[in-house]
Formats: sequence, C-alpha cells, structure tokens
Amino acid sequence: MSGSDYEKKRDFSRTPEPKPGRRKGGKRPIFVIQKHDASTLHYDFRLEVDGVLKSWAVPKGPSTDPRVKRLAVPTEDHPLDYADFEGVIPEGQYGGGRVIVWDKGTFENITEKDGAIKPAAAALADGHFMVRLDGEKLHGGYALQRTGKGKDERWLLVKMRDDEADARRNPVSTEPRSVLSGRTIEDLADGGDG
Ligand code: MN
Repeated sequence: MSGSDYEKKRDFSRTPEPKPGRRKGGKRPIFVIQKHDASTLHYDFRLEVDGVLKSWAVPKGPSTDPRVKRLAVPTEDHPLDYADFEGVIPEGQYGGGRVIVWDKGTFENITEKDGAIKPAAAALADGHFMVRLDGEKLHGGYALQRTGKGKDERWLLVKMRDDEADARRNPVSTEPRSVLSGRTIEDLADGGDG
C-alpha cells in the first residue's frame, strides 16, 4: 500500500494526525513504536523504508525475550512525519483513539544475502527483514518474518539472540511512558490532546 491510502482514510480537517510531508534524507533510517488504544490496544511498529514508514500493528507489543513470537499485522504505509505524532484521534477517523510514542530511534538493516546486506525493500518483499534497533527502550536485533500471504498476510516479530536479549525485561508493562513527553496513554484525555 502507498502513502495515499493513508491520506484517503483521513480527513485532515478533523484529525490532528499529520498530513504527509517530507523529511530530509541522508541520516540513519528511523523506527518508531506508537502505543495506540483504538478499539483494541496495540503497538504500531514502524520502520522507515524508501521514504515512508512501513507499518505493522502488534497487539501485544514487542518482547525482549527471543523465545516469544509476537503477531504483527501489516497496516498501511504512514508518512515519515507520523513518527512524532502523539495525541487523540477523533472517533470515526480511521483508527481512532489515543496515541503515544512508546519508543523511537534509528535502525540498521542487518538482513544478509550472500554475505552482503540485502536492500530493505527486497527483504520486505521476500518476507524476511532483520533490523538492529537503537531506541530508548528497545535495542539490538529483531526479526520480522512473514507467515501468510495475500489477505491472510501476517508477520511475526521476534527478538534475536544477542547481548540485548533479556527474558526478564518486559518493557511493554514496566515502561509505559512516552519517550517524547513522559506521558502515559492514560494521561491523554479522551477527546482532547491533553
Ligand atoms: Mn494503530
């Protein structure tokens, strides 16, 4: 899906979410994880690839335990400016609900093929993308693996076994605050960007 799907699903006179814009290139690509209490709570995991944020909804959020596989349902590409969005999406607008920036940072594509780094777009097309996150809460390797195709497309998000793996951490429950504002999702009032 393209960024225009994002625009088609939203009325920018009604939602505080950003219109698509442009970010200066040349830097390490960014990742963001937004905690979103839409009809069901989930964590939107987004990776900058070729000028957009490739996106997955992860119902249980990411784990730091390599034995835990987390379902990741692909959603539409989002504009890069969305990475800093935090606030309340009015009901009736696509998604709806409160959003905080739960984690943010940069990432490195570590997907290898024949001893070289495989471009991100090709890795995503082939359903296997490995990244090294450098966030405030999450660090180290994560693997995204596609498990179904077409309408049933599903991915799994799994922590890779490295020095940053830690089965005892559970940041989704112990570190609930926004890395941008320090607020919890409960701090955002319903119906206002409080
Ligand atoms: Mn969402």
